[in-house]
Amino acid sequence: MDFLVLFLFYLALLLIGVVMICFCPEIHYVKGLVRGRTQIFSCIVSECVQRAILELLHYLFHTRNRIFIFLHLILQGMIYTEYTWEIFGYCQELEFSLNYLILPYMLLVVNLAFFTLTCVSNPGTITKANELLFLQVYAFDEVMFPVNRSCPTCELRKPARSKHCSVCDRCVHRFDHHCIWVNNCIGAWNARYFLIYLMTLTASAASIAAVSTVFLVHLVVVSDLYSKTYIDDLGRAQVIDFAFLIQYLFLTFPRIVFMLGFVIILSFLLGGYLCFSLYLAATNQTTNEWCRGQTWPPPAKSHVYRNIYSHGFWSNLGEIFLPATAYYDRKKK
Ligand SMILES: [Zn+2]
Ligand SMILES: [Zn+2]
Repeated sequence: MDFLVLFLFYLALLLIGVVMICFCPEIHYVKGLVRGRTQIFSCIVSECVQRAILELLHYLFHTRNRIFIFLHLILQGMIYTEYTWEIFGYCQELEFSLNYLILPYMLLVVNLAFFTLTCVSNPGTITKANELLFLQVYAFDEVMFPVNRSCPTCELRKPARSKHCSVCDRCVHRFDHHCIWVNNCIGAWNARYFLIYLMTLTASAASIAAVSTVFLVHLVVVSDLYSKTYIDDLGRAQVIDFAFLIQYLFLTFPRIVFMLGFVIILSFLLGGYLCFSLYLAATNQTTNEWCRGQTWPPPAKSHVYRNIYSHGFWSNLGEIFLPATAYYDRKKK
């Protein structure tokens, strides 16, 4: 029962994670997916249920809500509880170095600090008071960001590299994307916090995966499992092979193995996303610009999009970690 419950829970978490990462940035894809599915299953799913699903998806992905913040904290809490409850104790018994074992906790403290900063900080909301200031920060490239454009919702002039976030209903300077996991936009003023949050999250998942793997390998080596035999279904003695070893570890430490599988997958997904974010930071592009650049020019336009904002690696990083207009709020006080 323990094994089955954990297995189902594991599958559900993986499914949620993959759906979130693949589909959350563009709610339209989710709606399209659901519409496509609901068309196929319209004979068995009533219109009322279809509407309820779309409303739920709209609420989850297209309105500001703290559901994913809680989900994030619950997942993080569960992984660290398992790490503390089982792995930390076992590893101490096996006399692992304490510095090595407390590394995930140190990363957790830094991660939670930057997670909070990303959630609560102003990403660079454009208002009537700071509109003129933001208009001077970046040059208009006249391709993706034409001069003299206004936001029809906020009725403010659009500075270059800004975008209106439909979830938060505001224009954001150097808009990158809206992240549901922090329930906030990522823009000029909090991109640095988001990047450090992402780095520490990846590092904490990778460090837990590394400690857990070393623990299991150490256990196999210490108990000399490879040199032992087992009796198969036909009553013959068999040497323990890799497949049997995995099965044995699954049954002996189900929670540790499930958690290890989850954090390994998470480390690769987060690692991939971190590499992409670092590439964007190094080349001074936002996710919004990168996505639009992939499909530019639209059929009606003939201009070729070129990134005019990159001024070298260090200068590009400096722009993220020391944003030019971040002192604006302090100046007002
Ligand atoms: Zn706007
Ligand atoms: Zn937003």
